[in-house]
Amino acid sequence: MSVIAVVAIGAPDDEVLASVEPAVAGAFGREVRRLEPLAEPSGSLDAARGQWNAPEMLKTLLAARPASAERILGVTGRDLFIPVLSFVFGQAQMDGPTAVISLARLSQAFSGLPEDRPLLLQRARKEALHELGHTFGLVHCPDAACPMSLSTGVVQVDRKGEAFCASCAALVRERTPVAMPPEGRTR
Ligand SMILES: [Zn+2]
Ligand SMILES: [Zn+2]
Repeated sequence: MSVIAVVAIGAPDDEVLASVEPAVAGAFGREVRRLEPLAEPSGSLDAARGQWNAPEMLKTLLAARPASAERILGVTGRDLFIPVLSFVFGQAQMDGPTAVISLARLSQAFSGLPEDRPLLLQRARKEALHELGHTFGLVHCPDAACPMSLSTGVVQVDRKGEAFCASCAALVRERTPVAMPPEGRTR
């Protein structure tokens, strides 16, 4: 079975990883395997912004991807940016092997509110599906309830559901290798 590797960049949040992994496995029909945490790439911190460079994180993930893994998803607690945007919840290579999500702004604590772990886990699952969706060639979806809809804030994240709409789900299936041949199945 095709494998999606999941890896923490920096200090891991095991509860988030344990919540994201089955969601990814279910949405993409892949086996999910967790790798040993990666160090934050040196040079990815923009000291002036106090944020971390998402494309640099993707480069690190690309280098860390095992040959056996079709995709790799990084999960970081650091606040990410790309040079043209003030922040991003995540970043992915369109049709490529790497994606990263940031938990920083998905946390209620970022807005000065009491932390809400179930809400953080739910948001992390949605953004993991969103970014990995891009790696399978999915673009932003006009359906506000679909995880592939664009989120520029947590309000939009919370409006989304955790299941791809029918057309996004069909695209994912097109990108899914056919199941094992019958002789490879166990009873
Ligand atoms: Zn997107
Ligand atoms: Zn959709």
